This record gives sequence, structure tokens and C-alpha cells, in this order.
Amino acid sequence: MSQSVLISGGGIVGSFLGLELAAREIPFKIIEKKPFASSENDHIRSLTLNLSASERLDCLGVSTTSSLIQRMNIFDGYGSGKLSFNCDEANIDYLAKVFSFNDLREALIKKVESSISIGDEITSFKSMESGIQASLSNGSTLETNLLVIAEGRNSTLAKSIASENFSKDYEQVAKTFLVEIPELNAEEAIQVFHEKEIFALMPYKNGTEINQFSVVWSMPKELAHDLTLDNLSTQLQKFEKKLSCKIQATSELLSFPLSAHHLDEYCDKGVCVIADAAHSIHPLAGQGINLGISDAIILAEEIERAINAEKDIGQLALLKKYELRRKTLNASMIRGVDFLFNLFQQDNPYLRLGRNSGLKVVDKLSFLKKNFILHASGIQKI
Ligand SMILES: Cc1cc2nc3c(=O)[nH]c(=O)nc-3n(C[C@H](O)[C@H](O)[C@H](O)COP(=O)(O)OP(=O)(O)OC[C@H]3O[C@@H](n4cnc5c(N)ncnc54)[C@H](O)[C@@H]3O)c2cc1C
Repeated sequence: MSQSVLISGGGIVGSFLGLELAAREIPFKIIEKKPFASSENDHIRSLTLNLSASERLDCLGVSTTSSLIQRMNIFDGYGSGKLSFNCDEANIDYLAKVFSFNDLREALIKKVESSISIGDEITSFKSMESGIQASLSNGSTLETNLLVIAEGRNSTLAKSIASENFSKDYEQVAKTFLVEIPELNAEEAIQVFHEKEIFALMPYKNGTEINQFSVVWSMPKELAHDLTLDNLSTQLQKFEKKLSCKIQATSELLSFPLSAHHLDEYCDKGVCVIADAAHSIHPLAGQGINLGISDAIILAEEIERAINAEKDIGQLALLKKYELRRKTLNASMIRGVDFLFNLFQQDNPYLRLGRNSGLKVVDKLSFLKKNFILHASGIQKI
């Protein structure tokens, strides 16, 4: 009998893994606990996917509206430090694509809808001679050769596999909303590091609007608590001044508390953990889902290799290969982003000076910038 995979969590990465398995004709089932209820704020949240992940979605036939990022400008809110990245510098067509979170999720779910069961959750699992037996909240059980946990941050099942070797509450909240900025180039992303705040603008074509941008603005919890639509324009003035433009908010504000973590191990016999269930990261580099998608691609490759070699896909040795191929890369991204976060939180005047000069120096080093671009786009691994 053919071997099968059970995926717990039908978020973007769980559904994407399903699609990767479907492309390899490997049987799978997804269990998603939350029914999809649309709300009028669905369109606000965006997601930036690097070139590698975007191209993989194209290959798998997932099509939904997106906006191209051709250029990225990073500013130090203090002084004149600036760093620019342009796709031409690395000879690639674009740096990244910006999607609507919900549109992308819906497009993925549609592709795997015959294999997804919505409204139940896996409450526990046990290892058996023949594989894994998972118990569901509706009282039934399911047997599988491999259980993949893709339940996002705070997954109880993931925590039963391993403890965390890195865990951090940034004491920050990301405010996300939409804005119109006629003065800015609609293919340019911008990031401003200002005191304890990080203000990011991503081009966001969500319908016919021109020069619409999606904002992800990380800020200390206290500031986020006091920020409302009424006092938003006053708080935006510092960024308007820095970017010499007028920023007009056009939506409600969504809030996301920010933290990061990394599991010490990703697998046990018959079970493995992927994406945000295994690791989460501050969104300042827009890399969270990209890491998760890479996990899913590598895991699907290892599963396919084991099936072709007529080996058990739940074998610990095979799952450790997936862990080995992903854990160091994920750890370096989590630590790197955490280092950047700390660097820009410092208000030591000497450090600020060094940071500004550093940005200007790096901006002139085309070889180093090309490497940054290829790494961030997922083309080049460390
Ligand atoms: C403000 C903000 C902006 C971001 N921007 C970017 C960006 O631009 N680019 C980027 O790459 N990343 C970004 N990220 C990170 C990105 O959103 C996450 O990495 C990504 O959503 C994780 O996907 P996932 O499928 O692992 O988890 P989730 O999206 O959390 O999905 C998990 C799914 O599992 C289901 N589930 C949970 N428990 C169970 C259970 N017991 N049984 C069954 N189902 C269960 C949930 O209902 C959910 O549907 C951002 C994050 C934030 C907070």
C-alpha cells in the first residue's frame, strides 16, 4: 500500500506542502481547525515572498494578484545612512512579490480542497508499529506514515517534540494597514529604522488602485496601545518628512504581537515540524513565510526520495536529513534578524554614527550587495 502524509494545519505553509506532495503524486490529508470566515479587513494583510518562493508558486500553478518589488531602499531614521538594492544589480527580474495574505491562502486552499478537512484538530498522537495514530477532536483516529505539524506559532503538538533553544518576546507590536502615496514609485519597497520603530512600505496592488502600499510598522507595545486612526497622521509625520511625501491611510489598523523562537529539534520518529510551528522571526526582513516554504520544499524532496528508494517515510534518519538541511539556515536567519533588530534599537550616538557610515559603505560595495540580494531572494544559500 502507498505511504501517506497527514498535515496538521492548513495555513499557507501546510497547504503549500500539500501542493508539493500532490505534484509528486504522494497521498496526503490536511486537518485545519478553523473554518474560513471572511471579514471586511481581509484585504489589509500583505505577505512578501522572495523570488524563489514566488517562482515555485508559479510552477505549481498558483495564480493570484501580486505586486513586484524591483527596488528596496533602507534608511536610518537618524542621519543620512541609506542602502539601496536593485534587481538589476543581481541580474534578476525582481526582488520579491507582495501578495494579499488571504488571497494567497485561498488560492492555495482551492488547489488542495479535496484533501483538506476543516473544523477538526489533532489533539494527540502515538507511535505504532505501522506508523503514527493521530486522535482528532471529533473522537476519531487517523493512521499515517508521517505526521507533519504546520500549526503555526504556539503549536502544542510541536512543543511535545522538542524544547525551544531560542525564544524572545520583542515587547513590540506590528501595526499593519494600507496607504496611498502618489509621490512614490509603485515598484519600490521602503524601510525606515526610526528610534525603536521600524516602518516598512511594500507596493500593494490589490485591485485597481495605483500607488497603494501596505505598511508593516513595528513599534513598542506602549506606542501601539495608544495608536488609533485619529492620531495616526501625527505619528506618520516623521516618516513623511524622511521620505518627502504625504502618507494617506486608507484602511483600518491590524495588530500583531511580535516574538521569535526556534525549536531545538524538528523531528521524532514518524513526526516532523515545519515553518512557524518550528521557528518564528521578527518580520523586519519579511522572511517568515519564505523560511516555511523552503522547509516544505526540502521535506517534500526528502519524502519523495525515500518513496523512490522504497523506504519508510517516517524513519527518523530520513527526517533528520530534512532537519539537517534546514535548521542551520533557519537559525542563521533568526539570529541575523535579531542582530539587526538590536543594532537599530541602540541610541548610543557613536553606534548610530557607525551604523550610518556602515550603510553608506555597504551601499557602494556592489559585490556584497549582489550577495545580499541573491541570499534574500532565496537563490543563494549560505
Ligand atoms: C505583521 C506580520 C507581517 C509578516 N510579513 C511577512 C512577510 O512579508 N513575508 C514573510 O515571509 N513572512 C511574513 N510574516 C510571517 C508569516 O506571516 C508567517 O511566517 C506565516 O504566516 C506562517 O505560516 P504557517 O503556515 O507556518 O502558520 P500559520 O499562518 O499560523 O498557519 C497555521 C494554521 O494551522 C492551523 N492550526 C493551528 N493549530 C492547529 C491544530 N491543532 N490543528 C489543526 N490546525 C491547526 C491554524 O488555524 C492556521 O490555519 C509576517 C508576520 C507578521 C506577524
